[in-house]
Amino acid sequence: MYISDILYNIIFILQNNFDIFFNAFMIKTIKNYFAKLLKCVIISFEGYMKIIDLTGKEVEVKNCLGCDIANGNLDVFGGLLYRSENFSIAQDFELPIDGFLIIFSNRHVEKLNDLNTDEQVELIKLISKTLNILQNNQIADEYNIILEEKSSYHFHIWLMPRHRWMIEKFGKVLKNLKEIQDYAVKNMKTTENLEKIRQTCELVKTQLNK
Ligand SMILES: [Zn+2]
Repeated sequence: MYISDILYNIIFILQNNFDIFFNAFMIKTIKNYFAKLLKCVIISFEGYMKIIDLTGKEVEVKNCLGCDIANGNLDVFGGLLYRSENFSIAQDFELPIDGFLIIFSNRHVEKLNDLNTDEQVELIKLISKTLNILQNNQIADEYNIILEEKSSYHFHIWLMPRHRWMIEKFGKVLKNLKEIQDYAVKNMKTTENLEKIRQTCELVKTQLNK
C-alpha cells in the first residue's frame, strides 16, 4: 500500500466519522470550517471524493454529486425518477429512508434565487406533484420540505417523510434530523428495506412520467 493510500484512508475515516471526532468539543462554526477544509484537502489530494451510498457501496464523486447525477455520470439507486430540462428527481443518494426524495436542478446553481421565475414555478409544481404521489400511495402522510442553501453545494430540495418510526424513536423530526439520518445509515441498509425503497422508486417514477 502506498503512503498516499494510507493517508487517504485516514482522511476518509475522519470524514465519515467527523461528528464523532469533533462534536464533543467544537462549536458549530469551527466544525463547519474544518468540514470545508477537510473536503478541500480530500479533493485536492486525490481529485475526487468518496461517499457511501444508501446500499453501503463506496462511490467516487469527481466534481459535484448533483452535477454528476444530473449529467448521467453517476448511477443512483432506483434510477432517475424524473428528468425535465431543468430538474431531476431521485431517491436520496446516501440515506436508506423510504420516500426520502431529492429534487435538484440540472445545472449547477446554489440558491433558490439563482433559478429564474419559470424554473421556480416548475419547482413548486414538481414538489406538489411528487408529494401528491407519495401521499396518495401511503408512503408517508406528512413531509418536511427542506431547502438548505450552502455555498458550493448543488441546489436541491429534500422531501423528507415523517414516518411513524421516526416520531416514535426521536420525537420531533426536524429537531432530531441528524440522529434520524445516523440511525437510518446504521440500521436500515437491509435487503428488505432497500427492496421497499426500490418499489417506491418504481411507483413514483411511473406516476411522475404519466
Ligand atoms: Zn453541481
